[in-house]
Amino acid sequence: MTNDEIDQAIKEPIERIGSALVGAGRSRHQALQDIRRVVNRFEAEMNKEEGVIVHRCPPIGSNEMPCCGRSPFARMADRMTLEDGLVSCDGK
Ligand SMILES: [Zn+2]
Repeated sequence: MTNDEIDQAIKEPIERIGSALVGAGRSRHQALQDIRRVVNRFEAEMNKEEGVIVHRCPPIGSNEMPCCGRSPFARMADRMTLEDGLVSCDGK
């Protein structure tokens, strides 16, 4: 499957979910955030199952990850995110 084919396959069901949320009173922007939040939660659950450690990306100007206070360079095998819902680092 090409990326274009995947995009095409996903577009229709996503639009259907968006319409259902808008029909239930969410704005289009909120509906998009709802979908993103649920996808992030699925990803976080998958990462947890697979033991993947995801840290919160350091803020601009800092090289310390807020979740554990470590430098990203000390944890090169782990991943980083800007989405709070995806952070799986337990701070240790
Ligand atoms: Zn961390």
